[in-house]
Amino acid sequence: MSLEKANAIVLRLIDFSETSRVVTLFTREFGKIGALAKGAYRQKGPFDSALDLLTRARVVFLRKSSGGLDLLTEAKLEHRFRPPNHDLSPLFAGYYVAELLLELTDEYDPHPELFDIAAQTLQALSSEENKHISPLILHFELSALRLLGHLPNLDQCVECGKTISTDGRVSFGQSSGGVLCQACRPGKRHVAQIHGDSLRTLQRYAHGSCENLQSISDPISGEVRGIINHTISHLLSREPKMQKHLQFLVDA
Ligand SMILES: [Zn+2]
Repeated sequence: MSLEKANAIVLRLIDFSETSRVVTLFTREFGKIGALAKGAYRQKGPFDSALDLLTRARVVFLRKSSGGLDLLTEAKLEHRFRPPNHDLSPLFAGYYVAELLLELTDEYDPHPELFDIAAQTLQALSSEENKHISPLILHFELSALRLLGHLPNLDQCVECGKTISTDGRVSFGQSSGGVLCQACRPGKRHVAQIHGDSLRTLQRYAHGSCENLQSISDPISGEVRGIINHTISHLLSREPKMQKHLQFLVDA
């Protein structure tokens, strides 16, 4: 066993006994880990109320060498995820970020850039000024897909590599994994016709930073959401659980 320190986001908490909880953390240094937090419910203890969903904390844990749960020994609160009162949208969006990190990442497979983007996204969702949940979430989804190697081809035809023009309509092969040129499109199944503007939005969000995100206009928003929802559901082999609570992403 070795003692490790990490920056962590709390993704899941499960009661283990009357005093202990099993926590799933996404850490910047080690990727996802599962750890037992003994005495998690004590008011004054080593976890100091840092173990709440989507909290960011500095943690210390004993890493088990042979599988099994690590043992969390310390957690110090860095940022509490607390969206403005009476507004469920940022809360659901935060739960969705947690679900994607849980489902799309593997234990001990670190992705520091993804950690930083997740932390920024959760901080922005917590802020009073935030009115642009839709672009924040789109940026997070596309960054996660890119950093985890699941980004659909958005620039070149997925079959022949030809650069795709974003003038007019564009063919997006849902099961092919990206855009298709006119020559490669015939005979392909599950092809969506989308606006060039929708493709440009996807390209921009996949590579941009999360500073100064603009809201996405109709009807681009619905098309973009359709492509992203399909891509993520395909990866998970099911719809994300939070998806039914995220209808506002299209209506926004
Ligand atoms: Zn082609």
